[in-house]
Amino acid sequence: MLPLRSCIACRKKQEKAQLIRIVSTEDKKAIFDKTQKMNARGIYICKNIECLKKIQKGIEKNKVKLKIPVTQESFRNLIEDLMRELGE
Ligand SMILES: [Zn+2]
Repeated sequence: MLPLRSCIACRKKQEKAQLIRIVSTEDKKAIFDKTQKMNARGIYICKNIECLKKIQKGIEKNKVKLKIPVTQESFRNLIEDLMRELGE
């Protein structure tokens, strides 16, 4: 069976390949792990604008508890980049 991960925005469990994997660097920057193989703890979010928007709002309201050591600022920047990439 393929490994399932849940999205931090909608909590739905999906195959890893359907999700965006985000990991933290040593200096607490959030980065998109395109290979999904970086040796760091990752969190996952759906590849859709709805979930990205949801998490962006949550961050603004300080309602998101990130389970990886990243700064809120770098996480927010990454989410914005991903939204742009998805075409919004
Ligand atoms: Zn989702």
